[in-house]
Amino acid sequence: MTYKFEKPIHAEIGTERFKVSIEWRNGTLIADEPVANGGKDLGPDPFTLLLSSLASCTLATLRMYIDHKGWDVPELKVNVNMFQQTKGEEVFTIIDRDIHFSSNITEEQRNKLLEVAGKCPISKLLKGTTDIRTYLYHEETSDKKINYTNGEITVEWTPDFCKHSGRCVMGLPTVFDINKKPWINMQGADTAAIIAQVDKCPTGALKYHYNKK
Ligand code: SF4
Repeated sequence: MTYKFEKPIHAEIGTERFKVSIEWRNGTLIADEPVANGGKDLGPDPFTLLLSSLASCTLATLRMYIDHKGWDVPELKVNVNMFQQTKGEEVFTIIDRDIHFSSNITEEQRNKLLEVAGKCPISKLLKGTTDIRTYLYHEETSDKKINYTNGEITVEWTPDFCKHSGRCVMGLPTVFDINKKPWINMQGADTAAIIAQVDKCPTGALKYHYNKK
């Protein structure tokens, strides 16, 4: 299992309600809510961001396919919208995607492009099964921690905080290996690599400090 992004999408909110700063790999964007909902409309709202993802993925996928085929379709447009229906306890979300080609294409091409749009990665993600694992970071330390050292730093592991995300084992298997005893091998990587991995622990079960000389 490998994460899609080396650096996760990072978002922060201050005291200003709804205004969220989102860091992505090449910059920052603001998400907000419309004025009618109490925001300042400084950026797209979360639903708009979600639908934008589908719109952009659809068009990029179609463009790649059209170019690969050498078809003459200079412009593609898409409108995406959604509505929700409640049935009993369940909420059903229906997303409508309307695609428009600027040039005449055959019925056969149209059907093929419809099929290709249905297979764009975000379509598959939205139609597939998604789970959201949520972790809370513990700033505090615990008395029940177990220490591992390489002489330069000490890594503290608090079993009570560990939610077995597997992030450390995936990220640095030469150091973190649950099939070995001890499961943290401080000689398995250099100090910088260990620190970088410890900083990615989502729960604070892993922390480190430099040893006093
Ligand atoms: S990254 Fe942290 S929470 Fe996840 S398995 Fe490792 S120690 Fe546990």
